[in-house]
Amino acid sequence: MLYAGLILLLLALALFWLSGRQRRQAGLPGGRLVYSDTRAWGPVEKPLYAPSLGLTGKPDYLVSVSGQIIPVEVKSGLAPAAPYDSHIFQLAAYCLLVDKAYGKRPPHGIIHYPGRDFAVDYTAGLESALLDLISEMRRDERRNAVPRSHEQANRCLRCGYRSICDDRAG
Ligand code: SF4
Repeated sequence: MLYAGLILLLLALALFWLSGRQRRQAGLPGGRLVYSDTRAWGPVEKPLYAPSLGLTGKPDYLVSVSGQIIPVEVKSGLAPAAPYDSHIFQLAAYCLLVDKAYGKRPPHGIIHYPGRDFAVDYTAGLESALLDLISEMRRDERRNAVPRSHEQANRCLRCGYRSICDDRAG
């Protein structure tokens, strides 16, 4: 279970360095502005788990719409003009987990920023990019060292792994 939990944690991290490439390759859906009635959002009791992928995660909310189960991820901070790629991948992972856990493929998920909600379509392309990302992470897990993928000292300064990362910048 610890291993599975790490997968999602690592996923969140890996998204930052892979997202640019994945977007180019997969043509990630950028998200569309929607109005979302937060009163319909239900809390998630326990993490969702996909044993075949060793993936687990807990969306902030699930909302039932016309027989579909839609995951909602809540983000704090300033709302961007369009969802960050890392957030899109995280939401895609929740869509995948909902599909595995409930046997219903969500047509989209929702990213909630302060004052702005985006619906992101869970397309076949997005799912494929996510599965590629998970496979790539699995390969990296078996490597002794994974080099830093960026030259952004500021990112390292804010990183929670800075104290144990041998490859930090700055
Ligand atoms: S300190 Fe920098 S290189 Fe190390 S994990 Fe964090 S962001 Fe990546």
